[in-house]
Amino acid sequence: MSLIVQKYGGTSVGSVERIKAVAAKVVARHQAGDKIVVAVSAMSGETNRLIDLAKAIHEQPNLREMDVLVSTGEQVTIALLCMALEAEGVSARSYTGGQVRILTDNAHGKARIKEIDGHRIHADLNAGRVVVVAGFQGIDDDGNITTLGRGGSDTTAVALAAALKADECQIYTDVDGVYTTDPRVVAKARRLDKITFEEMLEMASQGSKILQIRSVEFAGKYNVPLRVMSSFQDGPGTLISLEDNDQMEEPIVSGIAFNRDEAKLTIRGIPDQPGVAYKVLGAISEANIEIDVIVQNVAKDDSATITFTVHRNDLPKASELLNQIAEDLGALEVSSDDRIVKVSIVGVGMRSHAGVAAKMFQALAAEGINIQLITTSEIKITVVIEERYLELAVRSLHSAFGLEE
Ligand code: ADP
Ligand code: ASP
Ligand code: MG
Repeated sequence: MSLIVQKYGGTSVGSVERIKAVAAKVVARHQAGDKIVVAVSAMSGETNRLIDLAKAIHEQPNLREMDVLVSTGEQVTIALLCMALEAEGVSARSYTGGQVRILTDNAHGKARIKEIDGHRIHADLNAGRVVVVAGFQGIDDDGNITTLGRGGSDTTAVALAAALKADECQIYTDVDGVYTTDPRVVAKARRLDKITFEEMLEMASQGSKILQIRSVEFAGKYNVPLRVMSSFQDGPGTLISLEDNDQMEEPIVSGIAFNRDEAKLTIRGIPDQPGVAYKVLGAISEANIEIDVIVQNVAKDDSATITFTVHRNDLPKASELLNQIAEDLGALEVSSDDRIVKVSIVGVGMRSHAGVAAKMFQALAAEGINIQLITTSEIKITVVIEERYLELAVRSLHSAFGLEE
């Protein structure tokens, strides 16, 4: 007998028919003798609908109230799924995040899970029930409802699996696994049988929205075997696990990620002195704006230029701050560009191979794509390019690194 945590995303529970289909899958596994805990998302489109309602009432809604609102989507699906399970003759119980004490910090809209009390869930499982938990939500020390950030149901599932010491965490979605890149952008993308936690974390961090970043961090930290599979068709999916040292021939590049959500800011003609980078970037961070890629150059005349990227939603605020800083520092110019994208190649095999960057730059050059910024880590190389070249860049890199089917 195994304990399995299954998570079904928005499309997988997007209609009454889909919820019934999910119930049938859960019942099959339950009847085979396994203990099943299910985490579900809101029906597809529902979270966006709720956010739009709030924005129609207030430009910047109160974050606590926002969490009260957006957490309702998941409460609908847990109840409907339990009804569908009962209709199949299987005893089931639904719980909100607060009811099973998914304890988080109080950062509304991006809360982090601190602890889960598994007692109630274990008691239900031992009584032969299926347990259905609302994804994406928790409760803080003061009993306020919190949410975990977009795509947060993945993290609920992995955290449940870690807390309950589950044998596997299965993420059911609308694709049949993790692909070499988003199959919606590159038709020739290939499903991976397995990928390491480290690579999956880079893919997610660099923009692959198949799994929320935090869920992969959790899975790696607590060594939860994680599998991404389709709720629409049977198949092995993709196993995300620790690095396999026996693998003779590791591919150099395992996947390509991209991110369309960033914008670039540049401040030119600032003094090349200690403390200047801190003055510029410190002020941005203090405003709670996350900075991603950073590049600094010094010109012949000893003046410095700093370029960095932020989330597109933060661009107006970051621009305003940067203009103030520019005035203080007597900078020559501030400019910004939100028509950029970030494209990254990811692979643990890169560690032991030289010339990967050169090959990437050559492939982009062959398509006449100009590289604006470059950053690297041990297992990834990221470039920032003009947005209109995104698909061309991803496709040509996909083929240059032999990732096609
Ligand atoms: P869910 O609602 O089930 O959580 P998501 O929309 O969050 O589903 O994630 C699934 C989507 O992730 C797919 O439809 C696919 O377009 C996208 N995606 C992005 N990168 C990848 C990748 N490397 N492999 C597979 N799917 C990817
Ligand atoms: N419903 C939430 C969202 O749309 C959480 C999730 O689906 O994982 O982001
Ligand atoms: Mg998702």
